[in-house]
Amino acid sequence: MSLLTVKNLQIAYGGIQAVKGISFEIKQGELVSLIGANGAGKTSTLNCLGGLLKPASGEISYQGQNLLTIPTHDRVKHGLALVPEGRGIFSKLTVAENLRMGAYHRQLAKDELEQAYQRFPRLHERKEQLAGTLSGGEQQMLAIVRALLSKPKLLLLDEPSMGLAPIMVEKIFSTISEVTKEGVAVLLVEQNAKAALALAQRAYVMESGKITLEGDAKELAADSRVRAAYLGE
Ligand code: ATP
Repeated sequence: MSLLTVKNLQIAYGGIQAVKGISFEIKQGELVSLIGANGAGKTSTLNCLGGLLKPASGEISYQGQNLLTIPTHDRVKHGLALVPEGRGIFSKLTVAENLRMGAYHRQLAKDELEQAYQRFPRLHERKEQLAGTLSGGEQQMLAIVRALLSKPKLLLLDEPSMGLAPIMVEKIFSTISEVTKEGVAVLLVEQNAKAALALAQRAYVMESGKITLEGDAKELAADSRVRAAYLGE
């Protein structure tokens, strides 16, 4: 069943059209990647779903409801969690305080924080540390775990691998894959097209504000156009 259906989405910054009428869908529990070059409109699309941007036009249906009628601050209650580019953590709060903010709208069950730490024990070791002093990879882990504490149905991830060491990238990607096995749908925006296509079930390729290719992720990874443009072959 479709969790999210986007039709003819257009996003503009003043006179500049960043997203030019794209349509896509995400089914429940599905891992979908959105790949494309710099400036293709991926972040704008994700920020629009998260409520940080208003579209110029288009329809977004989420769980059968018009998403555009749900205010930004309420979207998390509806199971929509965005981990934005730059991660959006509170650098002057501790790791533990950041995690509690993830569940600000509901009462945390007794073991939930402990279970959350089990995904990344490194965060547990650093729970009293100020989030701003964590390494880039640790901050990314924190942002993802915090989003998961909101109990999302759809997790929107913007470039989670950006600037991270390969071992961290591997850890982050294996966590994303675990999360989808637990039934959470993920929309993954990535520059690292190879990893994103290996991880996802389906993918969309964006170019200059339009979706130019879409389909099964493995088939796209084998497509000569994708290989030439995004996989460096
Ligand atoms: P990247 O991988 O570089 O982040 P992207 O695919 O996520 O690229 P966007 O960040 O969505 O692309 O940008 C799409 C277009 O919109 C670009 O041409 C960009 O310059 C423009 N744009 C993005 N944010 C703004 C803004 N706040 N004001 C004006 N133009 C913007």
